[in-house]
Amino acid sequence: MTAQPFSATITGSPRIGPRRELKRATEGYWAGRTSRSELESVAATLRRDTWAELAAAGLDSVPVNTFSYYDQMLDTSVLLGALPARVANIADELDRYFAAARGNDDVAPLEMTKWFDTNYHYLVPEIAPGTRFELHPDKVLAELKEARDQGIPARPVVIGPITFLLLSKPVDGAGAPIERLDELIPVYTELLSLLADNDAQWVQFDEPALVTDIAEDAAALAERVYTALGSVGRRPAIHVATYFGDPGAALPALARTPVEAIGVDLVRGADTELASIPELAGKTLVAGIVNGRNVWRTDLESALSRLATLVESAQAVAVSTSCSTLHVPYSLALEEGATELDDNLRSWLAFGTEKVHEVVTLARALRDGRDAVADEIAASNAAVASRRSDPRLHNGQIRARIDSIVASGDRRGPAADRRSSQQERLQLPLLPTTTIGSYPQTSAIRKVRAALRAGEIDQSEYVARMKSEIADVIALQEQLGLDVLVHGEPERNDMVQYFAEQLDGFFATQNGWVQSYGSRCVRPPILYGDVARPGPMTVDWITYAQSLTEKPVKGMLTGPVTILAWSFVRDDQPLADTAEQVALAIRDETVDLQSAGIGVIQVDEPALRELLPLRRANQDAYLQWAVGAFRLATSGVADSTQIHTHLCYSEFGEVIGAIADLDADVTSIEAARSHMEVLDDLNAVGFANSVGPGVYDIHSPRVPGESEIAASLQAALKAVPAERLWVNPDCGLKTRSIDEVKASLQHMVSAAAKVREG
Ligand code: GLN
Ligand code: ZN
Repeated sequence: MTAQPFSATITGSPRIGPRRELKRATEGYWAGRTSRSELESVAATLRRDTWAELAAAGLDSVPVNTFSYYDQMLDTSVLLGALPARVANIADELDRYFAAARGNDDVAPLEMTKWFDTNYHYLVPEIAPGTRFELHPDKVLAELKEARDQGIPARPVVIGPITFLLLSKPVDGAGAPIERLDELIPVYTELLSLLADNDAQWVQFDEPALVTDIAEDAAALAERVYTALGSVGRRPAIHVATYFGDPGAALPALARTPVEAIGVDLVRGADTELASIPELAGKTLVAGIVNGRNVWRTDLESALSRLATLVESAQAVAVSTSCSTLHVPYSLALEEGATELDDNLRSWLAFGTEKVHEVVTLARALRDGRDAVADEIAASNAAVASRRSDPRLHNGQIRARIDSIVASGDRRGPAADRRSSQQERLQLPLLPTTTIGSYPQTSAIRKVRAALRAGEIDQSEYVARMKSEIADVIALQEQLGLDVLVHGEPERNDMVQYFAEQLDGFFATQNGWVQSYGSRCVRPPILYGDVARPGPMTVDWITYAQSLTEKPVKGMLTGPVTILAWSFVRDDQPLADTAEQVALAIRDETVDLQSAGIGVIQVDEPALRELLPLRRANQDAYLQWAVGAFRLATSGVADSTQIHTHLCYSEFGEVIGAIADLDADVTSIEAARSHMEVLDDLNAVGFANSVGPGVYDIHSPRVPGESEIAASLQAALKAVPAERLWVNPDCGLKTRSIDEVKASLQHMVSAAAKVREG
């Protein structure tokens, strides 16, 4: 086994296509509009073009098997023979695959959850007592062959056994999946031999789970697995990629095994002292120095000096991205027409393609010396200087205002006083009913927005159409008998982008699409400067809605943590500082809403859990600033103004204390699927404000019955007194049809009335 060393690579790349070609092809296939062969040819073309571009840019090792029709964890379930039994009798391979991903009339899909602390969602493999691991290498071998036929120096990428099992969930009474590690090692051993038979020089095993605290004994697991795989007689050279953080003790553990290369995330995992690991001296260190998950141009000068300090610690240093560029848009070249993208801003950015060039430039500098890339370094230095001096990044006024508010205290009056003054003002019944904000985003609404963008209608026509949507939604809620109404959010394309487009300091890309899950893509705004609010963002819509009804209408805002979580954020100041600036803008909006007569304001924080650091040691500090930002955003109003918040995506575990600390007057929270357990958890941390545990699951088209909702309210009343209990669905209604919404809410309102009588 004499593998050719490599010097420039990336961890992985996006696959949805620069123009979202794969999205269109798969959705067309699902809808029966696109044939199987068309779909396969779109996929093959995307793979070919991706590899050709990476090789032409100068990478001497190109990741393959990073293509996916849906998700790389699902691909790994297929590879290892670990698809759930319920799809086993679907004869066609691709249909079986999509059934596991999306479900069909007969089978439920795999559960989906966030990939570490990114916005990508993977499908959670299910490990049952009956799961028998067995190698199905067709996909990886086919991609390897395809790439080699094209003359690409291909390096297959496969999720490693530790990460696969730690991210899987046990079903049907099985034990923890990681206990099955010894059954998986022979399957990976077989894969290694097969790859060697097919002339693979290198293989990459992705082990991001090693940077988390999911397993207490991650280092021991790493040493055990990679000692075993490294001892396989016929195999390619092994590169173990860690990313998204510091592998800690797992790094020396890996270095003690026979693997040839180890990847570290130098952007996130900066704390590891690489020089103190003598075993690295015999390895290739794959230095993830170019940020794979944010959009900023690399400061080549400082990257080079960082790399120079590493050269001594390893046998060889290869330059790479910190993680797959799956998490950033394809290319800045796709932003040609963006008028808001001035030359300065453009010069600060690097998307996927540009990052590959940075990797190649750094590798060249390591090999040929700094002078060989003098032009690139000069351009990078100019960008650094321009960014450092740009007035949009340094608004002293905003910073001073934040300091003075924080200094004077960002707490509201005692919760009990707030409750009584709000009750006096709002006169709500026991068990008040409400909804989370959005009503169905119909195709009619989307068409109006598209028509505005295309210039087919003007702003006043757009406003008139949206107002008529709002009027319909208000009338519907009056008719249903809800107690606190909402305007329905028809004017919002997205709950973060809507605000980003109106705030200074944000740039909204035209084509900066990033895969969120399966065929779904999002276009996160880029938060590059100091955030300021030029004017009210929601007041006109909400006051219009309020003018149509005697009932209170709830103003609807997105919280600072969620705005950060779903944007690309600046990297030149602590996240906590950026959060405060966003919080100040939201705070100003709450004050304006209050002045306009709005008595109830909801500040959504569905992403509170998402930004939680992967290492326990860093979590408290995060929760502290996250809670601080929410309080800064919500403490500018009088005690008689009722502040709501909304949280979803379950698994509140580690953040439950923080939810109580937010100190919102009313917290609506996803609970329909977790059977009200969340209420006990809230009680356990001393939560004493009002709470609306979602009484039905809006993620399903199923209409819940009245008695079912009443039963769930009765269950909630065991944990929370009636004076503090609200009645609402578990999330916004935008993805549901209007008929489902009407029927479900009718049952919800009548269930609340029944339970109220009792
Ligand atoms: N107010 C938002 C809505 O109803 C909340 C969405 C969310 O929780 N993700 O759509
Ligand atoms: Zn929600």
